Amino acid sequence: MNANHKNIDIWLIYNCIHCDGTWNYPILSRVNINNIDSMLIQKFMNNDKETTWYYAFQIKKLRKLCNDVNTDIRYELRKEKVDSLSNEITIRLCYKYDFGLRIDKLLAEIFGISRSKVNKLFENGAILLNPNINIKRKVIDNLQMTVIGDWCIVALT
Ligand SMILES: [Zn+2]
Repeated sequence: MNANHKNIDIWLIYNCIHCDGTWNYPILSRVNINNIDSMLIQKFMNNDKETTWYYAFQIKKLRKLCNDVNTDIRYELRKEKVDSLSNEITIRLCYKYDFGLRIDKLLAEIFGISRSKVNKLFENGAILLNPNINIKRKVIDNLQMTVIGDWCIVALT
C-alpha cells in the first residue's frame, strides 16, 4: 500500500518460489482514499487473509496482466462418513476462491470413479446439478450436486 496525498495504490505482491523475484498485482491504482470503504482499507492495512485470497483468485483479471497464471492449485478433499438410509446424496459446495476446478473432475474424485463414468451418470439423470449447468463446466460457489443411486452411499460409507 502506498499513499500519496489522498490517492492510494494497493498491490498484491507475489513472491517467486524459485528466486527472490516479486511481481505486483495492482488492486487499486491512484484511488482517492475517500472513495474506498474504510473497513476495506483497514483490511488491506492488516493484510487480511480473506481479502488477500479474494484478490489472489481473480484469475481472469490476473490473466490480462500476466501470461503465466498457474491455476494448477493443490487442494485437499476431506470426506466425512455419511450415515444415510436414503439412496441419494446432496452435496452443497462452498467454493469461495475460484481456481478453475471442473465439476466432473471433482465428482470423480469424491466418489472414486472415472470422469467418463461421471459424465455417463449425468447423462442418465443420476447426477443433478442445481443450478442446472453442464457437468463439464467449472465449479461455482453454492453449487448443489445430487447423486442418486445406492452406489453413491457405498462410496461414502
Ligand atoms: Zn523467479
